[in-house]
Amino acid sequence: MSMNRREFLKIAGISTIAGIGGTALAGGLRKGVIEAAQTAPNTDALTGKKWGIAIDMSKLKSEENIKRVTEACHRIHNVPDFSNTKDEVKWIWTETFEHSFPGQEHKFMAEDMKHKPFLLLCNHCDNPACVRVCPTKATFKRKDGIVMQDMHRCIGCRFCMAACPFGARSFNYKNPRLAKNLQEYMNPEFPTRTIGVVEKCTFCYERLAKGLKPACVEESNGALVFGDLEDPASEIRKILASKHTIRRKPELGTEPNIYYIIGGNDYAVVPEIK
Ligand code: SF4
Ligand code: SF4
Ligand code: SF4
Repeated sequence: MSMNRREFLKIAGISTIAGIGGTALAGGLRKGVIEAAQTAPNTDALTGKKWGIAIDMSKLKSEENIKRVTEACHRIHNVPDFSNTKDEVKWIWTETFEHSFPGQEHKFMAEDMKHKPFLLLCNHCDNPACVRVCPTKATFKRKDGIVMQDMHRCIGCRFCMAACPFGARSFNYKNPRLAKNLQEYMNPEFPTRTIGVVEKCTFCYERLAKGLKPACVEESNGALVFGDLEDPASEIRKILASKHTIRRKPELGTEPNIYYIIGGNDYAVVPEIK
């Protein structure tokens, strides 16, 4: 049995009751659920002021490594696979450097960097263009920086897809529940979606609520480091202070919170946390 609407909204609402999204979601919650979420906070939950991820591409050495990371996300989030580009739904995917970081390539770059598949996901931007254009508040920013997606509020207008400059959102042109992969296996603990709604990475809000790191991070063997960008003592902040990192399309001003460590293996040593 899949997670029902009330269970989904309860988890999504725990960290948003007081935020922008809280107002939107509270309208769809029953009184008892709001009270339960407010009076029984999960003490195991990971909390932060602004979540981000640093990705060390040199540690994702093979296509197998990358596949394991993307499949971990798509499997637990019931992302449909219709095996064709037109109907593709993706929460985490790969592109070449040129397509991931247009304008940042140059002719002297190492060849393997140029052709390496870079791991991409929603940037959970500080200034998310998608949130600004959504007419129903189906997409909203939580206090911890996660740009959420409430599939039940989504009317499928796709304004957010047009606004997002990173291609981080997918539209369900087909009933996702009929995809072959979901016919074979469906995670009963995560809600499935319907035809006509948009979906994307939600930074594993449901795992954070249980004290777990995002699935892609756990599956990456240390290549992805998740942490609170507002905490100067966090591992991610230490990495950002000591490594050369780049972000996607910084000139657009959305302030992405996914950072890429580039450079050779010499730059790939994660500092020891004291
Ligand atoms: S990457 Fe796109 S979908 Fe994600 S927060 Fe930024 S603008 Fe929105
Ligand atoms: S498609 Fe859904 S999430 Fe996107 S702007 Fe429209 S209502 Fe909002
Ligand atoms: S943070 Fe979670 S939802 Fe986002 S890409 Fe990683 S596994 Fe998927």
